[in-house]
Amino acid sequence: MRFLPDLTLEISVPSGRSVDINALIEEKHSWINYEYARAVNSKRILGPEGVMFGGQYLKLIQIEDIREELTPDFSSGEVVVRSTGEWRVKELVRRWFLKETSNYVIRQVHESSALLRVKPSRVDVREITKWGYCTRGGRLSFCWQLIALPEKLREYVVLHELVHLIEFSHSPAFKKRLSYVCPDFRAREKELDLFVLYDGST
Ligand SMILES: [Zn+2]
Repeated sequence: MRFLPDLTLEISVPSGRSVDINALIEEKHSWINYEYARAVNSKRILGPEGVMFGGQYLKLIQIEDIREELTPDFSSGEVVVRSTGEWRVKELVRRWFLKETSNYVIRQVHESSALLRVKPSRVDVREITKWGYCTRGGRLSFCWQLIALPEKLREYVVLHELVHLIEFSHSPAFKKRLSYVCPDFRAREKELDLFVLYDGST
């Protein structure tokens, strides 16, 4: 019994044996509730103990140090943050994300706008509470936490906003355009819903 990344509960039953699934679920309900909460929380971008980067969960390790430095180690799944106190950790993560998201957005917007033959009037990375948005004037804004997402979801966010330059509302025409450049956009949209933006509260 396990939760898949999309939070589907998968139950494997030995072949040739009949199992009362309802009774099994009833029996395991506390385990299921616990694992469900864990699976949901693992999609949090930034929590007290960990941070998401490129879809990978990294454990935050703070070390007292007067110099400030943030060093991610993707192979060990850790981010070492040297700072004067734990209260500085979120700020150093914020700076790291801003830099990485900006680099990503510049590259991806350049590439995808050529593909879609569109040209935004302005592109920026800001502290917004949505993944991205587009104004009627053709200005695109992206959330500073975008880099936390797996590559295909980041790409989806950029494509979504760029398609708004052609179709401003979420009309059938918009979805049709989006499906040309991102055929599995509905699946990506669904997956994106599982990620919880850091709102500064914890
Ligand atoms: Zn939209």
